[in-house]
Amino acid sequence: AGSRRNLSGRMREMLPRDAVTALERLGGLAAEAGERAFLVGGLVRDIILHRRNTDVDVVVEGAAIDLGNRFAREYGWHLHAHQRFGTAVLLGPEGERIDLATSRIEHYPYPAALPEVEAGSIKADLFRRDFTINALAVELDGTRFGRLLDLFGGLQDIRQGTIRVLHSLSFVEDPTRILRAARFEAELAFQIDAQSLRLIRNAVDLELPARLSGHRLFRELRYLLEAGGAVEGVRRLAGLGMLRFVHPALEAERDGAVERVEAGRDVLDWYRLLFREEAPVRWKVLLTLLLWKLPPEELGDALTGFEVRSRDAHRITGDRRRADRFEQAVIGGAVRGEDPAGVFEHLERISLEIVLALMAVTGHAGVREAISHYIQHLRGIRGALSGSDLIELGVPQGPEVGRWLERLVRARVRGEVNSAEEERELVVRTEGPVNE
Ligand code: ATP
Repeated sequence: AGSRRNLSGRMREMLPRDAVTALERLGGLAAEAGERAFLVGGLVRDIILHRRNTDVDVVVEGAAIDLGNRFAREYGWHLHAHQRFGTAVLLGPEGERIDLATSRIEHYPYPAALPEVEAGSIKADLFRRDFTINALAVELDGTRFGRLLDLFGGLQDIRQGTIRVLHSLSFVEDPTRILRAARFEAELAFQIDAQSLRLIRNAVDLELPARLSGHRLFRELRYLLEAGGAVEGVRRLAGLGMLRFVHPALEAERDGAVERVEAGRDVLDWYRLLFREEAPVRWKVLLTLLLWKLPPEELGDALTGFEVRSRDAHRITGDRRRADRFEQAVIGGAVRGEDPAGVFEHLERISLEIVLALMAVTGHAGVREAISHYIQHLRGIRGALSGSDLIELGVPQGPEVGRWLERLVRARVRGEVNSAEEERELVVRTEGPVNE
């Protein structure tokens, strides 16, 4: 069945030579045991689309861990086996990585449940996947190496740019696929096909996404927020009525939520042009903006429900409060935008992500300008002298040292000192010369 297309030339063009060799060897070893191994998933799609992707997923009609063991022994790779799942990760000497799984069939005992799994054919394995564009496989056995196995029309859907589910219960089995559809559509600039869109609307009308755990929902939302096209993805979710499953408060203000995420994307683009080397965590910026209208306590509850690491959740919630306080301080005149020390003291306590989120969301030009100035000129300013330098200069040990360290940073921020030497002079001028 399927097409007779062969992707081996394209694989050699797109993948490192060592990766192709490893796949050939893997296919060879599988064939020796009378088994078939296939390259599957997003990498096959991306090879066809000429997109970069480093996730090498291999499915074998046979025991994945045994195959991995034979490969590791023969070629000197490392194997991490997950006995419980029957999966394994092969790690090569140059940092290569291949994920191995046994082809499997999934049964969903009830809608949105985690599936029960058993071994099956490659066809069954591909059929359980989310979309036709992700359900292609490539044979790895020597004589057939590179041959495309296209059982569900995935190649044509890739060519036409269509996101299509494999069967009509797909979103009932797993509503996270709705978020995945929005993500792939936006990231690949594809279109969800009309029938799949109807199936999504049915699942949403039936409130099926409400059955997802916060953890699973958030995992896919985070991928979407990290992807290219995050704004279009969120807009699609809003149009589908999906935002209320992220948080009920988003139902009433979906347009505002999309606009905030869009403003966040623009601020992130601006930041990346200025500072190529440091990348803020996109999902933290965009998620905080999505939920900006929530009072901080409710934001904290939402993050807990998503099972965001508690350290991150606390930080984001605390920063969100500090961001409000800073905005109020500037609007109320307690901090003047032109006062670098005042701005610095507030913003230095807030993570970059939430500073950028505030810049995107504030309706106040003075706040925006103060943040812009801070990011371009003040952020990360440190004094040059250490605590022990200060003690050598005659500062008494104890809290005085800490006060001096802060004072030197403030002097730097104000431009009163610009070098270690000038810092020393300021200390000596104030404390008097060192008595030996
Ligand atoms: P990509 O397809 O770009 O690798 P991804 O990073 O989300 O996207 P993974 O989560 O690593 O991919 O999943 C790899 C493959 O597993 C997908 O290409 C898809 O075929 C399948 N898959 C992942 N999640 C689901 C799901 N919820 N339902 C069905 N199939 C899925």
